[in-house]
Amino acid sequence: MNEQTTIDRTQREYSAAAKKALERSPQLYINGEWVDSSGGETIDVEDPSSGKIVSKIVEASDKDVDRAVAAARTAFDDGRWRNMPPVARQKIMTKLADLIEEHADELAELEAIDVGKPKGMAGAIDVPGAAAHIRFCAGWAGKINGETMNPYSMPGETMFAYTLKEPVGVCAQIVPWNFPLLMACLKIAPALAAGCTTILKPAEQTSLTALRLADLVHEAGIPAGVVNIITGYGHTGGDRMVKHPDVDKVAFTGSTEIGKLINRNVTDTLKHITLELGGKSPVVVMPDVDIQETAPGVSQAIFFNSGQVCVAGSRLYAHKSVFDEVVEGMANTAEFWAPRPSLDPDAHMGPLVSKEQHERVMGYIDAGKRDGASVLMGGDAPSSDGGYYVNPTILTDVNPQMSVVREEIFGPVVVAQRFEDLDEVVKDANDTQYGLAAGVWTKDASAAHRIASKLQAGTVWVNCHAMIDVAVPFGGFKESGVGREQGREGIEAYLETKSVIMKL
Ligand code: ADP
Repeated sequence: MNEQTTIDRTQREYSAAAKKALERSPQLYINGEWVDSSGGETIDVEDPSSGKIVSKIVEASDKDVDRAVAAARTAFDDGRWRNMPPVARQKIMTKLADLIEEHADELAELEAIDVGKPKGMAGAIDVPGAAAHIRFCAGWAGKINGETMNPYSMPGETMFAYTLKEPVGVCAQIVPWNFPLLMACLKIAPALAAGCTTILKPAEQTSLTALRLADLVHEAGIPAGVVNIITGYGHTGGDRMVKHPDVDKVAFTGSTEIGKLINRNVTDTLKHITLELGGKSPVVVMPDVDIQETAPGVSQAIFFNSGQVCVAGSRLYAHKSVFDEVVEGMANTAEFWAPRPSLDPDAHMGPLVSKEQHERVMGYIDAGKRDGASVLMGGDAPSSDGGYYVNPTILTDVNPQMSVVREEIFGPVVVAQRFEDLDEVVKDANDTQYGLAAGVWTKDASAAHRIASKLQAGTVWVNCHAMIDVAVPFGGFKESGVGREQGREGIEAYLETKSVIMKL
């Protein structure tokens, strides 16, 4: 891949708006105000395209977390948000969506600087997606209703029963680094629509857009204490949020390992919980496909966002009659996906988010090679002056015992395997602890439905991948999660049902 060695991987100059955001002093957004941390500790913010430190954020102390939880508790208990007429809440949320759109360019750039994702991708996917979550859920604010029931074993003339849908309370919402703004909005939107209050913690690697979001939350007119945004580490600040007795619900997106830990940590206080965790999503390519469409599609399924996507199509199963053509077609996309600095307008793939992630992904690739996998494409890191780039990688000659086949790599690495018959491939596709998503590529609608019904996954895509929509429920089977986000189910996850039974 000579093309890749000639790419200039020097990060571009930041805009004035981005520089201003990077220069702000590290603070937390608690109770409608920007406040200093009680502890004074900070965390460096790094641009993974260059490896340079570009800003600092607060490392929240226990006291900071307690202060944020207290603000959210008071704001919930006094009803300043949940008792506001739904039309007013809807208007404020819609204003927030408008503000996100107005600041789209700056937000996309900050995301590019912080995560390493191409600014063009952040502008096309992350920012509009973030606004869509807020806008969609704003509409729900006025459509949350209970029901009336006819009691079954009581006389209807004298007994009356109905349900009320009430907000679950104070929410601790913790998000990862792969889609920071999108995840932040995906979390706060249903909570706000339901009438909850929240403490949101972005990942320590990528907090810049969540902090700008706090400015916009303020400008939109969300009352003080309803949304509190704190930055810091997971094992300290995040852990304190999860265990806090004044928190009623925990919503977490991240690794399965930490999701299991959080699940254990909420047990003592029996909080409501939603977990959206890891995946090792299979992509099944049937013999009847159009290779011209399918090869770029299955490449995008793994290489989008440098493979740092919970639904990444990281296990490819192509029918033996098309296997060679499919992987050759994927290899032809190498130049398109060649990693470039996130502010390079030609970038489709950036670096990985951090040195740690780079080491982790290269470690998996090396383990794959040691275990006997063949490298059909990539398998190495291109030259760069400090950035965390990995070339898009296709491994073949793999078997189900290899760590590259079993474990979530969270990088641009796909393992490609051949299959002969449908029952066999469904069994292999389901042979995983995970069950987040899966893909099927075929022109045979009947086969698509049959395979979709057999795959153990929360979402199955047919002839596409990672098409996620706020109106459609999303979540995992097996060790990929608990509960659903998005759509009606996503709102219900922030509601309690209260039954009222009344003698007339
Ligand atoms: P990744 O492996 O992708 O970095 P993690 O699951 O470690 O993802 O982190 C996702 C989010 O969870 C981050 O915001 C991180 O700070 C937070 N986190 C990590 N450990 C804990 C914990 N013990 N309790 C609460 N939050 C945590």
